[in-house]
Amino acid sequence: MSELLILNGRVVDPAQGTDEACDVLVRDGRVAAIEPPGRFTGLSNSLPNELQMDAAGCVVAPGLIDIHVHLREPGQTHKETIATGTAAAAAGGFTTVVAMPNTTPVNDSVAGLEWMLAPERQSQVNLLAMPAATLGSMGREITDYAALVEAGAVGFTDDGKPVLEDEVMRAALLAAARLGVPVSQHAEDTRMTGGCSMNAGRVAFRLGLRGMPVEAESRIVERDLRLLREIERESRARPHLHVQHVSTARALAAIREAKAQGLHVTCEAAPHHFTLTEDAVGDYSAGEYCTNAKMNPPLRAEADRLAVVEALLDGTIDCIATDHAPHASHEKEVEFERAPNGITGLETALGLALRVLHREHGMALGRVIALMSAQPAGVIGLKQRGSLRVGSYADVVVFDAGVEWKYRAVASRSKSRNTPFDGAEMVGRVRATIGRGAILRQ
Ligand SMILES: [Zn+2]
Repeated sequence: MSELLILNGRVVDPAQGTDEACDVLVRDGRVAAIEPPGRFTGLSNSLPNELQMDAAGCVVAPGLIDIHVHLREPGQTHKETIATGTAAAAAGGFTTVVAMPNTTPVNDSVAGLEWMLAPERQSQVNLLAMPAATLGSMGREITDYAALVEAGAVGFTDDGKPVLEDEVMRAALLAAARLGVPVSQHAEDTRMTGGCSMNAGRVAFRLGLRGMPVEAESRIVERDLRLLREIERESRARPHLHVQHVSTARALAAIREAKAQGLHVTCEAAPHHFTLTEDAVGDYSAGEYCTNAKMNPPLRAEADRLAVVEALLDGTIDCIATDHAPHASHEKEVEFERAPNGITGLETALGLALRVLHREHGMALGRVIALMSAQPAGVIGLKQRGSLRVGSYADVVVFDAGVEWKYRAVASRSKSRNTPFDGAEMVGRVRATIGRGAILRQ
């Protein structure tokens, strides 16, 4: 029997409506009891010090869950490996991550999925995966959803690319609905974004870059919602659409309306989209272009950033997901238009969420935690995680919610350093991450 006591913390568990001073007893990888301070004094006297954690002054919350990460293994291990990416996850307070399939080769088979999830990959946290929605993520023929779910898939996506064809997306939604998992859509009408490297608008114009219009996102979202309506009307199926990294007011308006109509749609927002705008791309007077502000969907205008914040506050957005997308320095240190999309995000997500949502926009601490634990767990139907309920896996993050600090990319656990947040102000610092009762990082 293994035990761990987490003493003197403020337990915030939105799934149970808990926010109070409590001690947590972990036994054999599960939450065994949560009691008011002092109840475990007898046990505390008999347990060795290394099995006791003093969380005084800290929040004790469910381990964070990120349903959108790129771990680059197999095939692009100069950027990241499953071991290094999940070490960055643990450093950021995450205890479960969901790997995207755009590896080399694309994760579109049971063999590929099993390889990725095997213990030999040395994941530092609970690793899950969404295999490709279509073979090779080519957008033509859906993969074997039943076999992949049997092997552990928690959803399907061609992330990095959309499922563009109506009939293919319809087939994907129907097949996933039968298995009770979501289709996660990278909503980008690529017919409108060829050769584009940032958001369309004032900044792109000044920088002389081709810009992606907001409609490229909202058109795919609107098309997918239409498919949901049609499928629900024509069959008994109730497909679940999950929209990844929503970045525009227009797409959010469509999702808000669809939710009000009762469609099964969920969505996520990335920290960079509620923190930064297209202004981060370049200082046009200096002729400097920041490739660490290049991602897809791109950083948008301030009105869109505020729409993302508003949708996080009003519940239209179900969860925060990082879209952690590591790239090597030599890949990012090229002309803006040639640079790959994406930034690292696992170590900065909590600090940005607390700074921007909690401190600047007044979101309750429990809501921030829910957006990063219980709610992403709900999107992928994850049981026994995302809450500190007695009997759940003891996945826990302990963080000091009041600390201000500056993120330093050089200290990252990730193999890559491509972040626009090097030197940025963070609020709240992870003190310990615990996965199934084991201390992953302290
Ligand atoms: Zn994407």
